[in-house]
Amino acid sequence: PARGREVLLVRNVTKRFGGLVANNAMNLTVRAGEVMALIGPNGAGKSTLFNCISGVSPASEGEIHFMDQRIDALASREIAKLGISRTFQHVRLNQDMTVLENAAIGAHLRGRKNFVQSAWRLDREEERRLLWEAAHQLQRCGLGEHLFDAAGSLPLGKQRIVEIARALCSDPTLLLLDEPAAGLRHLEKRALAELLDKLRGEGMAILLVEHDMDFVMGLADRVVVMEFGEHLAEGLPQEIQANPKVLEAYLGG
Ligand code: ADP
Ligand code: MG
Repeated sequence: PARGREVLLVRNVTKRFGGLVANNAMNLTVRAGEVMALIGPNGAGKSTLFNCISGVSPASEGEIHFMDQRIDALASREIAKLGISRTFQHVRLNQDMTVLENAAIGAHLRGRKNFVQSAWRLDREEERRLLWEAAHQLQRCGLGEHLFDAAGSLPLGKQRIVEIARALCSDPTLLLLDEPAAGLRHLEKRALAELLDKLRGEGMAILLVEHDMDFVMGLADRVVVMEFGEHLAEGLPQEIQANPKVLEAYLGG
């Protein structure tokens, strides 16, 4: 998609868990070539919204459109195929497998066969293609020298980047990153920010949840603030930083 084109539209999304309203009429848009940050206190409903968008746990009400297609009733695998990739709040790598093998798991999604089929009986050509794609994405993310290291031997910052490389293997238009900088050291955060900035420059749409305000304010084009499942505020980083409602949500408690 052309830079600036709206790729994701979340409209009036409500998600209930029994009596608990985790998302209440949430609205959000993300454009190609922008980093949109989603912030808010713990329990505000950020991960829940990611689960609605990616189809992991569908919305109770509302609409989600991706590239002009309504996706809120689709299965997560269909949504991934259309071009939305995500990472989870906690690293989900097989620590004993190599970096390359871990990333190649993401490349399955782009194959013609369904995941289970291709996991069971990969033909040689398909397997080679997946590994090639994974290696390419790892190179792109600066991990070319770690392809054959056990994932568990890498520091957390690099493991997070392996997860992003894996997400990139399915050739997404939109990346959803849930707290990618959590637990990272300063230099690791900087490397992550540089990678995300590069992906943005290539036209990727990125929606990220993040608690580190320096990280968010230094990287994001726009920021949406959630509180108690609701859309509290939205704007440029400097507008958000100066917004009294936002300060209250974080400090008031
Ligand atoms: P955040 O990511 O902003 O910290 P979450 O989206 O994880 O917040 O959680 C929002 C609210 O929804 C919390 O009150 C949480 O306990 C609740 N919640 C999340 N997932 C579930 C679930 N599967 N079942 C019941 N409640 C849930
Ligand atoms: Mg969360």
